[in-house]
Amino acid sequence: MTATTVTDGQVVSLEYTLRVDGKVVDTSEGGEPLEYLHGAANIIPGLEREMDGMVVGESKTVVIAASDGYGEMDEEAFIEVPRSEFPDDMPLKPGLEMELSGPEGQPMYARVESMEGETVVLNMNHPLAGKELHFDVKVVNLRDATDEEMDHGHAHGAHHH
Ligand code: ZN
Repeated sequence: MTATTVTDGQVVSLEYTLRVDGKVVDTSEGGEPLEYLHGAANIIPGLEREMDGMVVGESKTVVIAASDGYGEMDEEAFIEVPRSEFPDDMPLKPGLEMELSGPEGQPMYARVESMEGETVVLNMNHPLAGKELHFDVKVVNLRDATDEEMDHGHAHGAHHH
C-alpha cells in the first residue's frame, strides 16, 4: 500500500522553484514535476530532510544553508592553469563557463574566476556552492518505488537514463 506521507522508499513527484539571492535559478514550472526516490540521496540533503513526512498536495517554503545544499565555497577548488593549455580561439574571460574532463573522463564544471597575465584561475566549485537556497516545493504525487528502482537507488520516470 502506498504511504500517504513522504517516507523512505517512496517515489515523490515534486513541483519546485529554487531561488538564490532572490532570483529563480531552477524551476519545474512549465515542465514535468521532478520525480525522485526518497531516502536515496537523490536530492540535496537539506531538502530531503525537509520533505520527510510531507503529504500529497502540501506546499512548503524551505530555506537551506549552503552546508546542507551544494556545500560551502571550497578555496581548494580554485586552480591555476596556463593560458597556453586552452585553445587559442577560446574567448577566455571571467565568468566564462566550461566543462572539463576529470581524471576518469567524468564531466567537471568550471568557470573562469580571473585572469592574471598568462595564468587563468578556474573556479571548480558548484555554481551554487556557498549559497543559501530558497525552495518552494509542492508534493503532487507519491508512489511506492519498484524493486528495480530500489535496486538502482533512483526513480525510473519518463526521463530515466
Ligand atoms: Zn535505473
